[in-house]
Amino acid sequence: MGGEQVSHGQGWRGQDLRGKNVTVAGLGISGVPAAKVLTGLGARVTVVNDGDDERARAQAADLAGLGVTVRLGDGDTLPEGTELVVTAPGWRPDKPLFAAAREAGVPVWGDVELAWRLRDLDGRTPAPWLCVTGTNGKTTTTRMLASILEAAGLRTAAVGNIGVSLLDAVLGDTEYDVLAVELSSYQLHWAPSLRAHSAAVLNLAPDHLDWHGSMEAYAADKGRIYEGNQVACVYNVADRATEDLVREADVEEGCRAIGFTLGTPGPSEVGVVDGILVDRAFVENRQKNAQELAEVTDVRPPVPHNIANALAAAALARAFGVPATAVRDGLRAFRPDAHRIAHVADVDGVAYVDDSKATNTHAAEASLVSYGSVVWIAGGLAKGATFDELVTRAAERLRAVVLIGADRALIREALERHAPGVPVVELDRTDGGAMAAAVAEARALARRGDTVLLAPACASMDMFANYNARGEAFETAVRELG
Ligand code: ADP
Repeated sequence: MGGEQVSHGQGWRGQDLRGKNVTVAGLGISGVPAAKVLTGLGARVTVVNDGDDERARAQAADLAGLGVTVRLGDGDTLPEGTELVVTAPGWRPDKPLFAAAREAGVPVWGDVELAWRLRDLDGRTPAPWLCVTGTNGKTTTTRMLASILEAAGLRTAAVGNIGVSLLDAVLGDTEYDVLAVELSSYQLHWAPSLRAHSAAVLNLAPDHLDWHGSMEAYAADKGRIYEGNQVACVYNVADRATEDLVREADVEEGCRAIGFTLGTPGPSEVGVVDGILVDRAFVENRQKNAQELAEVTDVRPPVPHNIANALAAAALARAFGVPATAVRDGLRAFRPDAHRIAHVADVDGVAYVDDSKATNTHAAEASLVSYGSVVWIAGGLAKGATFDELVTRAAERLRAVVLIGADRALIREALERHAPGVPVVELDRTDGGAMAAAVAEARALARRGDTVLLAPACASMDMFANYNARGEAFETAVRELG
């Protein structure tokens, strides 16, 4: 990978860590468990952390009791004698700590790399990994995949960014036949030796570019998920960039490229024919044959981008040899997580839908185009995004727009440029009643048959603790309408 010449400690496995000087970069969700596991393996562990607040001190005291050295308030200096760095996935690659590691020839692993290296510790037979990444839809697809694998009678879990942590999954007492692994672009950046059984990239839209440095670097990190795949590289036929990543990947002999499409599938694709999800990839004689997997109505909710998620999950499950009936049963058993296109209520013939999780423009576009006529509630922190493309694509469906949050002017300006006839109400309040006021405005603007859709296209932290709190405020306000 261009420019970044870090060594990866190529042959090291868990048992080789005894006595090694390991620096864990960052306390927190991945750092604390990593420090504990490494100490348990006999490594001499030092944790470095930027922050020095109360929470960090409590965590440091806990770790100190296990013999871990913790340096608070300095995450930039590489401790003398470090032989391996294990980093929290969110740490930016341009931090001085990594430049120092590079200079010293010290390998850097993320949380995923650590779990991957430890998966066969103590002679365990490791479960194969089916991996999912993409700008949007990762959690949904990974959980659909786990549901399908479970329906096939396999011992599995959704792990990674969700559910069980990867370290727990590979080191815990529960035995798995296969893991459904959600991976972020950050995690992939720091997981150079990961080799999946099969993997999918759902879509690629600009996100987190400040972290990765450029769209090319972001795409390259996502593309790492395909490196060394054994059975299938699953890509999105509608998103050329995902197919390009497959082409660029170095995979095992015999590994196949499998496309998913909302249209009629060609050979080596899964797709949709007359409301049926169809497999033309994992069937005998795929030039002529196709296997029915499920009905579109088995997918919840059956909106286009979610059907795409279901197809990607189905392709990964089929690559693992799961029967068609398990795809159907697994999709039927799947329940979407909260705040992801959740239908809250119908009031006076208007549907109210909570997609608070649509925190970027790509996600918001997918949900906006799922409805015919929408009163759109949007706004928050834009994170450097622009809204012209989103507004242009959604314009014809917009009955009206209610804008909230710090960066609402950016969306208003895009609406003025590309949807000048659409009524816009702006709320400049940010207090606890702001969402209820937005819902009341939306109600006044909606007509029978419309959908009032919270799909903010922005992060929530200007007004709410997180997207969950934002979605809950919306749902509460809607229930109070009834
Ligand atoms: P992630 O884990 O990648 O953040 P989620 O499954 O949690 O993805 O979905 C996040 C949001 O992205 C959803 O609320 C929805 O608006 C949108 N979304 C889900 N799947 C897709 C997709 N395939 N393409 C575009 N947007 C999607």
